[in-house]
Amino acid sequence: MNKHIFSFLGIILIILTACEPKDDKSPDLVLINGNIATLDENIPKVEAIAIKADTIQDLGTNKSIKDLIGKNTKVIDLKGKFVMPGFFESHAHFLSLGESKLELDLSKATNWDEIIVLVAQAAEKAHVGEWIVARGWHQEKWHPIPAKNIDGYPIHTVLSTAIPFNPVLLYHASGHALFANLNAMDLAKIDTSTENPTGGRIIRDSLKNAIGVFEEEAMSLISNVYNNTLAHRSPKEIKAYKEKIVNLAVEECLKNGITSFEDAGSTFEEIDFLKEIVDSGKLPIRLNVMIYEDNEALKEKISNYKIINYGNNHLTVRAIKTYIDGALGSRGAWMFEDYDDLPNHKGLNVTSLNTITETANIAIENGFQLCTHAIGDRGNNEILNIYEKAFEQNPDKKDLRWRVEHAQHLDRTDIPRFVKLGVIAAMQGVHATSDATFVIKRLGHERAKRGAYVWRKLIDSGAIICNGTDAPVERVNTIENYFSSVTRQLSDSSAFFPEEKMTRIEALNSYTINGAYASFQDDKLGSLKIGKLADLTILSNDITTIADENLRNTQVEMTIVGGKVVFTKQ
Ligand SMILES: [Zn+2]
Repeated sequence: MNKHIFSFLGIILIILTACEPKDDKSPDLVLINGNIATLDENIPKVEAIAIKADTIQDLGTNKSIKDLIGKNTKVIDLKGKFVMPGFFESHAHFLSLGESKLELDLSKATNWDEIIVLVAQAAEKAHVGEWIVARGWHQEKWHPIPAKNIDGYPIHTVLSTAIPFNPVLLYHASGHALFANLNAMDLAKIDTSTENPTGGRIIRDSLKNAIGVFEEEAMSLISNVYNNTLAHRSPKEIKAYKEKIVNLAVEECLKNGITSFEDAGSTFEEIDFLKEIVDSGKLPIRLNVMIYEDNEALKEKISNYKIINYGNNHLTVRAIKTYIDGALGSRGAWMFEDYDDLPNHKGLNVTSLNTITETANIAIENGFQLCTHAIGDRGNNEILNIYEKAFEQNPDKKDLRWRVEHAQHLDRTDIPRFVKLGVIAAMQGVHATSDATFVIKRLGHERAKRGAYVWRKLIDSGAIICNGTDAPVERVNTIENYFSSVTRQLSDSSAFFPEEKMTRIEALNSYTINGAYASFQDDKLGSLKIGKLADLTILSNDITTIADENLRNTQVEMTIVGGKVVFTKQ
């Protein structure tokens, strides 16, 4: 074939391509025959949705959306399934969630003896000196309780005799206490003279011997020794490990229909790593990260860490995490009055009020949200005071959306302060049902009724609640968490102060649009509207209408993030 014929064919090819009808405007993906809850008040239910690139292009009837289909449009027939904006996990721990998938799970153990057996089995497979790390024990969920105990906690001796050659570190389900065996305590040089660090407690017997339990800030006495061991791995090993836990966390999220995840506290170093993951295109969900660093580090570096909608809306950092108290299970929640089951004990203030006030100033000056863990009624009261003062001193700063993480036990007078101050209550439905077994024991009936997980009272006052699971404290299971939010039902079918439950729509809002609002992303996420990002969760049941008893059979069928199908149930 000569040169002239070649170029002649080339010209014909160009003309043909140019004449082809342009298909630019037709959607890339269309979902039809759906029962689609948009959470948009103007048009709450639609049958079909059209997506172009990562954005919702149109919503409407099957007919109106089918008319948009072009030759390159992928069509999914939903066959009547329920579609909602993607679940917004508003408070959980991303890397710890991944990590927990690699650790021994103690949450199903029904007593201390079972735990010792599980840990001993793990130690048999480990080499001498290797750390055994596990998570999920809760002394209030054991039957029988250990015969020898201090404040309900077992003594380490049987565990230490069963596992003498490996340091053992067992995290409490709440993440606010840990249990160590003698080997670990020896490595940490714990003895009768070791002092309690500020905001922490080493639990001791009458002879001042540590029994193995380290609460709150005292946990670092043991966990620092473990972390030092981890730091000796090669950079390559560390990177491979971190990538593995990211993948495990992502997998958990996607199969639960979670499209956005608010990480409740990561260091600058962890944020750098997460940014690398986003750059490599390996983060299919959207992450919002609260910075967890001390004030000195914040002052030095925070200006470099405001990251908004990075990597095509996959990473945002615009919040700081701090803690005012501990958890109820480990009696660390800071209460106004004594614990019913531990006289002369009101819990722990784990970060001084002056330090938190300074953090609040750093946040407000740098345009960051402050998200403070507060569980006890005193903890909640003090943090609201600090927020109120910061707002009063900065009247020009509006729409700050500061949050109280957990807001679990509230004094009656503090309930209306959330809406008044514009503070968001970042609560976890499943904490109420999971903690229900010991709330009354810790606080008594009256105090629990007045102020424990009072969603109804907060919503009625006009406050905004966003929802989540605090994984790995609880499983990141969206359906379980939704079920707890709308029923407050326990395993024995009784309900924990059911007058406080949310309605189906309130719970759905708390798990979608309110989460988006609580992370300043309600302009892009949280409901299904033209122009918003196409993040959707497809469920086997309509969770706004199905009967309570069938709610938990609901399956996540598909998860779509930014118009991409990232999970399909097999
Ligand atoms: Zn948390």
